[in-house]
Amino acid sequence: MKNIYNYTLEKLEDYFISINEKKFKATQIFEWIYKKRITSFDEMSNVKKETIEKLKEDFYFGNIKIISEKEGKDVVKFLFNLQDNNKVEAVLMKHDYGNSLCVSTQVGCNMGCSFCESGRLKKIRNLDVGEMVEQILKIEEILNIRISHVVLMGIGEPFDNYDNVIDFIRIINSGKGIDIGARHITVSTSGIVPKIEKFIEDGNQINLAVSLHAPNDEIRNKIMNINKVYNIHSLISVLKKYIEKTNRRVTFEYIMLEGVNDSKECAIELANLLKGMNCYVNLIPYNETSHIEYKKSSKENIMKFYDTLKKNNINVTIRREFGGNVDAACGQLRANYEEGLL
Ligand code: SAH
Ligand code: SF4
Repeated sequence: MKNIYNYTLEKLEDYFISINEKKFKATQIFEWIYKKRITSFDEMSNVKKETIEKLKEDFYFGNIKIISEKEGKDVVKFLFNLQDNNKVEAVLMKHDYGNSLCVSTQVGCNMGCSFCESGRLKKIRNLDVGEMVEQILKIEEILNIRISHVVLMGIGEPFDNYDNVIDFIRIINSGKGIDIGARHITVSTSGIVPKIEKFIEDGNQINLAVSLHAPNDEIRNKIMNINKVYNIHSLISVLKKYIEKTNRRVTFEYIMLEGVNDSKECAIELANLLKGMNCYVNLIPYNETSHIEYKKSSKENIMKFYDTLKKNNINVTIRREFGGNVDAACGQLRANYEEGLL
């Protein structure tokens, strides 16, 4: 038995061909699942009985369950239990332009960034495609809402689970599936350069965000292990290629950590690094966690940093703080759960 939510439209078409049926059936099934949100083959009234029986033998409808829901101002944080009892989380943010969901892509993360809860818990496994799709379906169902934007910024490094992540994006982007526009989907990576190369070759239209967090290798090596493998120079080079090939803008995420990367010198160095690139910097107030000793930069330092970048002609925004009171930073809810705090 396979999870039906693992299947892109193309893969479902291949399935129907393999059982000597017409491939347009895949579209019918897709619409039942994603447009009408049916979770039983018996309800698919335009599908003939034998086909329904065959589908019932081959597929089941997902397996993740919401086990905790924490609500804050304009934010709801969900903890899911997976079939093998691993836990991941998703965070819903209510913006004036719509509902944005931050989904997890792995159980834990192997990139080991020193400031991050998800990295503290080593990767146990990749999420499969269906487990990512179901995060959206379950939340839309329980809150009776539509999610208009998806960011792949929950637990895990999306490009360390590349193939599943791409299939997930195909399903949610498909007009016959969940139908979220490519411009409303953002993948965030810590900077796995060969996977960014692949992302360019594959011609994806979704937004790319990169966790930079430092203006030079010395600081970045201290907080992000990945920089020892793909340093800033190699990262910036591949991103310049991305911009040239796609004509699209890159978002740089920059967490503001007090005394680590938030000085005026850092801002100037960052401006020099990014000068002339089609990009913008999103300054993120660090969400402090009980397990890691970093402190968030003061409001004043964040504003100074912002002003310095602005003066140097860098596009910059400060991310609105979401859900500090519901442990909404990457991996925090799960970390507390594992320790019995929830
Ligand atoms: N692994 C990917 C995507 C998941 S992390 C990546 O690193 O880009 C998503 C974003 O949350 C990253 O920019 C990460 O650096 C940031 N993040 C992690 N812990 C955080 C915290 N405690 N406060 C604020 N942002 C955090
Ligand atoms: Fe992994 Fe991203 Fe956390 Fe780094 S910031 S440990 S890459 S989830």
